[in-house]
Amino acid sequence: MSDNFFDIAAACFPADADSSFIELESGRRYSYRDLMEISGRYARLLAELGVAKGDRVAVQVEKSAEAVFLYLACLRAGAAYLPLNTAYTKAEVGYFLGDAEPKVFVCPPGNEAALADTAKGAGVGNLLTLGTGGDGSLADRAAGLDPEFDTVACAADDLAAILYTSGTTGRSKGAMMSHRNLSSNAATLHRIWGFRPDDVLLHALPIFHTHGLFVATNCVLMNGTGMLFLGKFDPDAVFRLLPRATVMMGVPTFYTRLLADPRLTPEAAAHMRLFISGSAPLLADTHREFRERTGHAILERYGMTETGMLTSNPLDGDRIPGTVGFPLPEVSVRVADEKTGEPVAEGGIGVLEVKGPNVFSGYWRMPEKTAQEIRPGGWFITGDVGRIDERGYVHIIGRAKDLVISGGFNVYPKEVETVIDGIDGVVESAVIGIPHPDFGEAVMAVVLRRPGAAVDEAAVVGACREQLANFKVPKAVAFVDELPRNAMGKVQKNLLREANKGRFGA
Ligand code: ATP
Ligand code: MG
Repeated sequence: MSDNFFDIAAACFPADADSSFIELESGRRYSYRDLMEISGRYARLLAELGVAKGDRVAVQVEKSAEAVFLYLACLRAGAAYLPLNTAYTKAEVGYFLGDAEPKVFVCPPGNEAALADTAKGAGVGNLLTLGTGGDGSLADRAAGLDPEFDTVACAADDLAAILYTSGTTGRSKGAMMSHRNLSSNAATLHRIWGFRPDDVLLHALPIFHTHGLFVATNCVLMNGTGMLFLGKFDPDAVFRLLPRATVMMGVPTFYTRLLADPRLTPEAAAHMRLFISGSAPLLADTHREFRERTGHAILERYGMTETGMLTSNPLDGDRIPGTVGFPLPEVSVRVADEKTGEPVAEGGIGVLEVKGPNVFSGYWRMPEKTAQEIRPGGWFITGDVGRIDERGYVHIIGRAKDLVISGGFNVYPKEVETVIDGIDGVVESAVIGIPHPDFGEAVMAVVLRRPGAAVDEAAVVGACREQLANFKVPKAVAFVDELPRNAMGKVQKNLLREANKGRFGA
């Protein structure tokens, strides 16, 4: 057996090949036998197209069972799987294709005419489509091929995937993930979250991102069990399926949307053993309300594209709201001074640096950026600011790039957001820095109120004055009906900064 993640996962597949791997909303099921056969045919097709070890296969397709099989086929062919966010425009796709130079690009049926020039312009020789069959897509082209395929042997350090980061702080970067990165993380998560033979995952995350692909899907593969597969998060479908699921992995917006639904009761969640949240901070209120409504304490964890999962609140033990839990067993986390890189005193605040078999090997074709972010000893600078408390729980305080410097003083937006979010009637806030003629930057708060709540600017400023130093108090407050978010539920502060940039006349 090689170190190809597919081989490692396949060793965990169930003895009964008829057992379910993916079940769609329509009720259509795919078994582990289907997984082997379909991924075998797709891998054979890729090999026939000349895809060899290390070649990239880029895909921008809707979530489907076939998309999962294509991911597995890439691993089996020894190729590097490169999923692209379905929201990317043609111009963005053109940039990523030019950057990655894949041998094959796969898009949905019907999109190939629109993307043909883009693919050609980026020098991609093979443009394929992926549908469910009967549509001339690669599902049809592979249909006649031999499903037996010898998975290409790979070393642990070989490239398994390139995943682009979410682009929250700038242009997305391609993180090069090795087979070791995938295997070590999947094995650990499978263990620490206590996966069982009767577990069924409710999978409602996108699969172009590390969360839905490497955390959720890989965990299920390592467990050899099944998942209920939703094209996208939809409360109606979730409430229909919860009685058959045991684990759900989600982003915080999933939970706020479930909380807004009267169907969320202890009975509705009675069959579930674990609700997990990650990819963005979970509000303490959401954690508390969910517990009150269902009896379940959401398990919050933290990870990044470049590293996979890093920390998790415990399965057994206190799941503390506002923390992301303990470092995974094989992951080292330290808190360092942003400028010097020296570890800070115990309990102090600094930039989180991490090391372990889960850490990526570098950014695709960005050697300088890689050298800036990975220290010679292997410590990767996450860019997240945090601290580790006396019990060992990691707290995320914000992002280093999110820091507002007002009149020479550092303001971590999260600290101000926590105060504002604590005001009765406030759902959530986003604190940003806006250019200011005197202070360089000034603090501004964008606030989402509960429907009908009477919170006004004076209440926000008043609460901040009471609890924070003067330079942290917002100089402007705006109320909005919705905070802009990306597909992973992350607040897009760049859009808020852009919309408010002239506010202080600088
Ligand atoms: P880019 O690196 O392109 O700016 P990004 O960092 O948002 O985008 P991802 O790799 O998808 O791209 O997200 C990782 C980041 O998400 C982490 O660095 C952290 O800031 C944030 N994050 C993930 N989980 C949590 C969590 N539980 N609490 C707070 N922040 C989290
Ligand atoms: Mg990042």
